[in-house]
Amino acid sequence: MTTASDISESVREGSATATETIKSALSAIAKRDKDLGAFVFVCEDHALKQADRIDGMAADDKRRLPLAGVPIALKDNICTDFAPTTCASKILDNFNPPYSAHVTKKLIEAGAIVIGKTNLDEFAMGSSTENSAKCITRNPWDRGRVPGGSSGGSAVSVAAGMTPIALGSDTGGSIRQPASLTGVVGLKPTYGRVSRYGLVAFGSSLDQIGPFARTVEDAALLLGVIAGSDSRDSTCISTDVADYLGSLSDSIAGKKIGIAREYFGEGLVDGTRKQVESSLEKLRELGAETVEIDLPLTKYGIACYYLIATAEASSNLARYDGVHYGHRSKNVGDIVEMYSASRVEGFGPEVKRRIMLGTYALSSGYYDAYYLRAMKVRTLLRRDLEKAFEKVDVICSPVTPDTAFKIGEKSSDPLAMYLADVYTITANLAGIPAISVPCGFDDAGLPVGLQIMGPAFSEATLLNVAHQYQINTNHHKKMPV
Ligand code: GLN
Repeated sequence: MTTASDISESVREGSATATETIKSALSAIAKRDKDLGAFVFVCEDHALKQADRIDGMAADDKRRLPLAGVPIALKDNICTDFAPTTCASKILDNFNPPYSAHVTKKLIEAGAIVIGKTNLDEFAMGSSTENSAKCITRNPWDRGRVPGGSSGGSAVSVAAGMTPIALGSDTGGSIRQPASLTGVVGLKPTYGRVSRYGLVAFGSSLDQIGPFARTVEDAALLLGVIAGSDSRDSTCISTDVADYLGSLSDSIAGKKIGIAREYFGEGLVDGTRKQVESSLEKLRELGAETVEIDLPLTKYGIACYYLIATAEASSNLARYDGVHYGHRSKNVGDIVEMYSASRVEGFGPEVKRRIMLGTYALSSGYYDAYYLRAMKVRTLLRRDLEKAFEKVDVICSPVTPDTAFKIGEKSSDPLAMYLADVYTITANLAGIPAISVPCGFDDAGLPVGLQIMGPAFSEATLLNVAHQYQINTNHHKKMPV
């Protein structure tokens, strides 16, 4: 396994070139992605040009690049002015953004090389990467199973060793859940820690961009590059970015880990429970103390999330009208017919379902009963967590109730699909950071993830705990065949 830190060090020191690195990543993609469907677009020319630019740099300039020559995959809802950005939707099929996202620019400045755009559930709505107008992405541990979603393509790119790192977006679990199901590290930062300028909006009060990596160290390195203020995203906070790499090696002795009964109840399968419990045992061996806590409002999370996220989505997706962007229906009479036909043809079934749910929750007469109520519950949920964090440093739980499910198993039952998010959505509703770190395999050999949540801006603590766990275990060293 070659990590981003290793690659960057070799390129900086001159023992490897960026061009060699990119060529070998391109050939890994050509070989492995035929069966996996992680990429919707490979930017070969752009990547080789960037590699050439880095190789041509003066040694001193190269030495300043934290991600020198490191290939990275971006979820295809992150804008790139050198490659299409489709959100895996027919409605954006021909969309070439005129600008790059803040994170894209940050990566390029840091020497990283965007090698391709990855598949997702259309507009990031889903938990399996099956709701894509492009293709289905498969789990490298078992190709008959889903990789989770919505950032399934980015997770698979890292899990299958096509790129050492990738970026995804997380509105209700879309980084952590696929990370868990494919055996890689995935981190959702605090709301406002990373600029969302150039991220195609789904649920604006919930969306965050975050890293995928095989090691916690690489996740820390990548977060350090993309985090920080940006005047073009008014929700982005200017608080100093912590030294994520610097605190990885701190001891976790004495750290208090909260365990909430509500995250270990009905629906959690035995294989997952067993691995998560043994990871808690490991953390105790390392000197951490586990403390029982109550999060009684957890049970309202799903209902609350699926009202707020759909309400925001219905408003955000109103801009796709066949005029401003993307697909426009042909042979239509007047303009109203054109709007309507473009949307009917352009959006897939899950996106339409969300727009209808959200429009309903916001409509007059129902607004108070649904949207406003959900917002009130959201405040209570956040307070629940704030109270818990007065007693503990972090909260540990499973990431998902089950390991990777079979392709097609839940696609005809939206409610079953929504339930896969039961442990992840709270962090989005509360705006707090959470990480998924590989913590073993179930009896079928499928990866299990441990979720660690912390108070706002505690990314350094989460990375520290996850890193200490990871360097004392071997789960992350196993690769799918
Ligand atoms: N699975 C959740 C949903 O479908 C979360 C998606 C996400 O985080 N983008 O809404």
